[in-house]
Amino acid sequence: MFDFQLDNIVAWIRDGGYTSVALQLPEGLKIRATEISDYISEHTGADTLIVGLPCYGACDLYDYKGKTDALVHFGHSPIPSQGEDRNVLYIESRSDADLDGPILDSLETLPEKVGLLATIQYLDLIPKVKGILEASGRKVSVGKGDLRIAYPGQVLGCNCSSAESVLDDVDAFLFLGEGDFHPLAAAFGVKKDILVLNPVTKEVRNMAEIRDRILRKRFAAIQSAKGAQSFLVIVCSKIGQNRSAEADRVIERIRSRGLKAYKAVMEEITPISLMSYRVDAYVNTACPRVAMDDSAKYDRPMLTLTELDIVLGDREWADYEFDQIRPGC
Ligand code: SF4
Repeated sequence: MFDFQLDNIVAWIRDGGYTSVALQLPEGLKIRATEISDYISEHTGADTLIVGLPCYGACDLYDYKGKTDALVHFGHSPIPSQGEDRNVLYIESRSDADLDGPILDSLETLPEKVGLLATIQYLDLIPKVKGILEASGRKVSVGKGDLRIAYPGQVLGCNCSSAESVLDDVDAFLFLGEGDFHPLAAAFGVKKDILVLNPVTKEVRNMAEIRDRILRKRFAAIQSAKGAQSFLVIVCSKIGQNRSAEADRVIERIRSRGLKAYKAVMEEITPISLMSYRVDAYVNTACPRVAMDDSAKYDRPMLTLTELDIVLGDREWADYEFDQIRPGC
């Protein structure tokens, strides 16, 4: 079960004297939006505005100003480098899942030096799992990420700096979370085994196979972009995905090769939003996972920034690097 902290939200709205509040939920939690809205209205009298736009992370924090007094953002932690706003409350929706038995079953697959990672929903399990692993004689490290990361051990789909910070101290990482999206960021970003322990299904699996399958597709996309004469360099207007300065640098580099480059700003990157542009390839400076995970949806190759390096001959495939979004974007 995920904790929505409804009473904390009510207290925060009352203490802040807010009369209107926007509610922003990621796709998987939108099913709870009307129920949360009802609870808040009944207990505070505040007007609520459900944000119906797609939401995939705190990187696309809704711009509530001028529409409501405050914003409650569900399902993600703050991104510290985006700055603080006392009128924004983050409800991280942490899970109360427990892990006693299955962690013992998975011990045999773990080496002596282990790094622990998690999604925001399962961060509370880290101290307990750390204790269990240490009791088994292992050395456990929990890394501190850069300023895009709110908590030790936390991984975003575009940033695995928590793993990078302890890379030399571990033989492999144990990732606590559901789904492939977040563990894949670690698998792309560090050259160590990433074992995933799903706290709900209790399943343990290695990310190597799916990582290699996606990287083979990235190799194909890079190869097919090598003959491109024109590139659409995409900049996203969302606060935590906007790498406009990077886009300008990339455009200069493309043009210096005698190739054409165009800068385009968009809110949502979808096959329909790109279909009108007459270019040979896309360079995506927004969320790197759009190119990496969803490439099959696009009719032309879409590259991350580090993949463009390979296309331009400035990097070898052997030095492939995950295009992470760093603080300050
Ligand atoms: S940029 Fe992509 S991976 Fe990073 S927080 Fe936003 S949606 Fe998630």
